[in-house]
Amino acid sequence: MFRKDYIIVLVLISIFSCKHHTKSDVNNSVTIEVNSNSEVKTNQVIDYKKLISQDSSYISYGFDFPVGRPDANGYYNAQKFQENNHLGDDWNGIGGGNSDLGDPIYAIANGYISEAKDYKGGWGNVVRIVHLYNGMLYESLYAHCDSIIVKQNNFIGKGDKIATIGNCEGTYFAHLHLEIRDSVGLDIGSGYSMNTTGYLNPTKFITKNRN
Ligand SMILES: [Zn+2]
Repeated sequence: MFRKDYIIVLVLISIFSCKHHTKSDVNNSVTIEVNSNSEVKTNQVIDYKKLISQDSSYISYGFDFPVGRPDANGYYNAQKFQENNHLGDDWNGIGGGNSDLGDPIYAIANGYISEAKDYKGGWGNVVRIVHLYNGMLYESLYAHCDSIIVKQNNFIGKGDKIATIGNCEGTYFAHLHLEIRDSVGLDIGSGYSMNTTGYLNPTKFITKNRN
């Protein structure tokens, strides 16, 4: 009897210390929260630096334009960053109207596809890629896509085709809304704001950081 009780006490101690350790271990790639009723849920707080560093071929070494690879040949920026408080660039084909509908969109750099989904409303199909560049994390966001070719939670190489240019089911003339953020995993946002915290001027950033 004594031995059995002793074992139960040992088991209880180890369960308690496991929980305690998990709670304090917040720097790991996935945060585990332990509720009072012992339910375990994952929070999907991904350590992108750790994830992308695992394979040097997915680290970014430079950026290209997302259309008319690699220099945006045949396209122009119809609404520049902060024009009308715009938080990105709008890439349109020089043919105007819907002439660029279905044209390929390319990953601007190596990275990890953190999201590929239909946000509906004014956003439509959106792809988000996280980039590790010079030890810093960046996110590129491609919106209003006609079709998404890639799947979420996969690595991607610079210049790989990820989607096609769309018009958000007729909401606009076809174009690509491109954002570059230096804060990863923010809400999708509104696309327009005077407050540019977390957002970068995409053309300026790409031009400054070519391979
Ligand atoms: Zn836009």
